[in-house]
Amino acid sequence: MKLRAELFRELPSVDELLRHPEIRACVEREGQAVVADACRTVLAHLRAEIASNHLHQDQLRLVLEGIHRAIQGELERALGYSLRPVINATGVILHTNLGRAPLATEAVKHIAATATRYSNLEFELASGERGKRDVHLDRLFRKLLQAGCSAAKAGADRLVLDQQQISTIVVNNNAAAVLLALNTLAEGGEVIVSRGELVEIGGSFRIPEVMAKSGAILREVGTTNRTRAADYERAVNERTRLFLRVHRSNFEISGFTEQPTLEAMVLLAEKYKLPLMEDLGSGALIDLGQGGVPGEPIVVDSLRLGVHIVTYSGDKLLGGPQAGILSGREDLVRKMRSNSLFRALRVDKLTYAAMEATLLAYSKRSYAAIPAIHMMGLSPGDIARRAEQLAARIHCPHLELELMDGESLIGGGAAPSAALPTKLLSLTPLTSTAAEILARLRALDPPIIARLEQGQVLLDLRTVFPEEDGLLAAALNQL
Ligand SMILES: *Cc1c(COP(=O)(O)O)cnc(C)c1O
Repeated sequence: MKLRAELFRELPSVDELLRHPEIRACVEREGQAVVADACRTVLAHLRAEIASNHLHQDQLRLVLEGIHRAIQGELERALGYSLRPVINATGVILHTNLGRAPLATEAVKHIAATATRYSNLEFELASGERGKRDVHLDRLFRKLLQAGCSAAKAGADRLVLDQQQISTIVVNNNAAAVLLALNTLAEGGEVIVSRGELVEIGGSFRIPEVMAKSGAILREVGTTNRTRAADYERAVNERTRLFLRVHRSNFEISGFTEQPTLEAMVLLAEKYKLPLMEDLGSGALIDLGQGGVPGEPIVVDSLRLGVHIVTYSGDKLLGGPQAGILSGREDLVRKMRSNSLFRALRVDKLTYAAMEATLLAYSKRSYAAIPAIHMMGLSPGDIARRAEQLAARIHCPHLELELMDGESLIGGGAAPSAALPTKLLSLTPLTSTAAEILARLRALDPPIIARLEQGQVLLDLRTVFPEEDGLLAAALNQL
């Protein structure tokens, strides 16, 4: 048996490897530097295997025969993206793990145009002077929130939403928006919140923790299921800075419950001359009721009732890029803009571009151009037709196919009880397990993410783009 030192000597040098015809072809395609890197990585791996006695002489000979393939594999891994598109067949529209809202085509075009050149991000074209980046979105938010308001009953409005009064700024996400608002409005003072609204969203956003980080002191009132206006009133003292209302985005409390209406909260805020903030979370810009998502709070409704500051996400029901949006009374928003935290939490030009294009789609009432909104509006009949066509194209002896009724989910911590009726394609594996099928679907290119329920693999075409149906059929036939 050869000594380890002798095995090490059998390893080729990087130069020798680079002269191998197949490796030379790689060099021509990708350049010498990355291919040499891949050679070094593979050689280092082999050295480690020899050093730990995992590779003996015969095995080494075999490995060396296939070393060019190993180098090619390493090259593919090194040059391939880690962040990749996947086909979302789960039926969860705002799937946080799959990137929440897919962007509208116009948003992507606007990103590309803004990203690859210079822009007037913070430059006033009229005066040639330094400008503010938030003007690009503030203008559209004003228009949309204003339009929503004038469509509503006049007279009932406490806050007359003229264009001077409502202002909007955008930060990195809604968690950042809540942090900025609490820090600006209540640092060092108390914030009164109902115990029924101390929510946790997505495992890492928790109201008490964000409150602590903001420097504000949480003053809990009421109980988990019942909180009355009087509970809030009793907690008011000279240290109180803010009333906070949090939307129960991802859960419901039913049964013996009580919560003051938003109107009552507004009256309370007026009585004590304190601001009222509402963390809406999902924050729809339009009524999604016809799309089958009833009961989701609409941003403009809260503002119209007199809530002073509303915070919501850009990539939930709005269907835009990741962002946290703060809309509300101009003087309060101005304070937030001048808080140094705003600078730390600000978003880049790509987000402004994506958001501007998304808001323009709302302006034009082209809701179907926003993929998440379009998916919410798909009828079970449309989905069933596509599922039937897909099933007809699959010829796989190892799978039993069946169409069945089911439900799609909004996801993203929005509309916990809104279930959209859909038609599911269920795959029952005959020669393997459902978990194995799921794993094989994930290993495809592009990976397909499906649902697993009671030993069945379920595909919901609501969240699959129609142009992906063909890929899906081909992939299932490969299984
Ligand atoms: C989703 C949500 C958040 C967090 O928003 P991100 O944009 O994910 O940071 C905060 N509050 C509520 C009520 C939410 O629903």
